[in-house]
Amino acid sequence: MKIPHRNFNPSRREFLRQLSLGSAAVAAGFGFPNILSAEVAARKPLGVALLGLGNYATNNLAPALRETKLCRLAGVVSGHPEKIVKWQKNFSLSEKNCYSYENFDRIADNHDIDIVYVVTPNTLHRDFVVRAAKAGKHVITEKPMGGTVADADTMIAACHAAKVKLSVGYRLHFDPYVKEMMRLQREKDFGDFMKLTGNFSFTFGKHAWRVEKKLSGGGPLMDVGVYVIQAACMAAGATPIAATAHEEPKERPDFFLDVEEAISFKLEFPNGAVLDAKTSYNDNMNTFRAEGAKGWIEFVNNAFSYRIGEVQTSKGALNFPVVNQQALQMDDFADCLLTGRESEVSGEMGRRDMKIIEAIYRSAQTGKRVII
Ligand code: NAD
Repeated sequence: MKIPHRNFNPSRREFLRQLSLGSAAVAAGFGFPNILSAEVAARKPLGVALLGLGNYATNNLAPALRETKLCRLAGVVSGHPEKIVKWQKNFSLSEKNCYSYENFDRIADNHDIDIVYVVTPNTLHRDFVVRAAKAGKHVITEKPMGGTVADADTMIAACHAAKVKLSVGYRLHFDPYVKEMMRLQREKDFGDFMKLTGNFSFTFGKHAWRVEKKLSGGGPLMDVGVYVIQAACMAAGATPIAATAHEEPKERPDFFLDVEEAISFKLEFPNGAVLDAKTSYNDNMNTFRAEGAKGWIEFVNNAFSYRIGEVQTSKGALNFPVVNQQALQMDDFADCLLTGRESEVSGEMGRRDMKIIEAIYRSAQTGKRVII
């Protein structure tokens, strides 16, 4: 039985080999045995290396990795040696598992690390994903997947060639409120959701890579509008076929030099469902609503936050336990590697969203309805 993960250490390889001997069930994908129990995996968690130790990696992913069951923080990659020293101390990381951007390719020889998680500015995702894949590591890249559809294609091709899995950090897929919306869509309790509205906006005043197009790929649409697109695709259970958009006039043109400050857009789905949405760096909104002929669901506040706020439906309020979205997301990817199943939040999904984003920008530029 072939275990294609090039960096499994001998004991893990032997362990998987023995497991596979007891089962005829071998997942089709990359040939992983699909019988590894969570209990066993918890004793042998997969190693994750965070690449780019900024705000999200520090304040969200690293704490989440203390709660994951199937994976653990095993290493870091950073351009700042002083950060590495701090992380080594805080997370008891061995020196050999810490890399600079220059020597990062040596990670290919490191059996402690199974997954590289890319958490840099958006347009830098592509090259790091390609390097991680070439080193034989499975990869998670943050949203948006990259700067363009072409970036997404390059990442997908590199991971395919290296026979490693690729996933996008779409944490909301693992939140129970969002899962409930997906269930309502599938089971049509409220009929098809035909009227969708969403707005994710925050006031952004700090000069940073987010307002530099060469690093961000674009403004709020890239950064947070992508969540509204994601929610709409989940509520519609489909990919949109056309986009219409217009950029709002800039109130701070000197600050938002080469990215939009705010953009309004409409997405049309194959069954006639329509999303009306807005995203802005000059407002504070975080809402989503989906209406069908027989009922509705509304994320009244913090619709896209790490901790989702009030969620109402036409049948009453929803009340689910608070979860750690990032921990569930990373554990799900680890489970994909251990069982051979494909990630629900795959590179293909990231590419789909890049395609929608490009159509929205094209419509805003041309003033025309753009077929996706
Ligand atoms: P950040 O600015 O806090 O961190 C970015 C990191 O990238 C820093 O450690 C920085 O040193 C490093 N970096 C490497 N090369 C760089 C360069 N040339 N210029 C600037 N920084 C460089 O940003 P962040 O908020 O942590 O966002 C990082 C990624 O995570 C983005 O893609 C963002 O969209 C995504 N993100 C996702 C979520 C989520 O909920 N899924 C939340 C926040 C951010």
